[in-house]
Amino acid sequence: LFVVFEGGEGAGKSTQLRALADQLRGQGREVVVTREPGATPVGERIRSLVLENSAVDAPSPRAEALLYAADRAHHVATVVRPALVRGAVVISDRYVDSSLAYQGAGRTLPVEEVSWLSSWATGGLKPDLVVLLDVDPHTGLSRVASRNEGTDRLEAESLAFHERVRYAFLDLAANDPKRYLVLDASRPVEEISTLVARRVQEFLVD
Ligand code: C5P
Repeated sequence: LFVVFEGGEGAGKSTQLRALADQLRGQGREVVVTREPGATPVGERIRSLVLENSAVDAPSPRAEALLYAADRAHHVATVVRPALVRGAVVISDRYVDSSLAYQGAGRTLPVEEVSWLSSWATGGLKPDLVVLLDVDPHTGLSRVASRNEGTDRLEAESLAFHERVRYAFLDLAANDPKRYLVLDASRPVEEISTLVARRVQEFLVD
């Protein structure tokens, strides 16, 4: 089972991902928690290439899209597929939809091209379920700011950028409703984790 958490900045993905992993491990299942970008040593280096830049040194949009695709190709080949083959539950913090939303809608690269690049990178591997934690960028960005994380890079993007990202995620979900669970990230943490657990459990009835 391959579950992906998606959402804008400050949507609470990490908290929810941990809650789900704990719950499934409590049932005795093997769970692999992973993320994009940066789940592997190669990925860590790509992550710093794309994320630790001053605005002037940032890779151009196409270069950025290729770097995320390279991270993803390596991640799928060395972490995700082997774990799925073993029968583990894989839970990833971001996957293809983040590229469609950020590199496609956000950076205004043609979404179908980013989609093609992503399917080439993954060999067509799709998640069974995408949990989309929907948050309005204003709320999300202020949550991130209150955690005191480096927000310079995020603030360099306009609110319009983050709005495009948000609506791209919602569009993807609307076009494939069976594969998505869309939740309002402003709801209480436990309410969200209960809904996620319930949906994931539907896949696990043995
Ligand atoms: O989810 P996390 O906070 O680790 O993501 C790090 C950053 O990478 C996010 O701020 C997001 O803007 C960016 N990102 C991106 N395109 C992707 C994946 C992540 O711009 N495909």
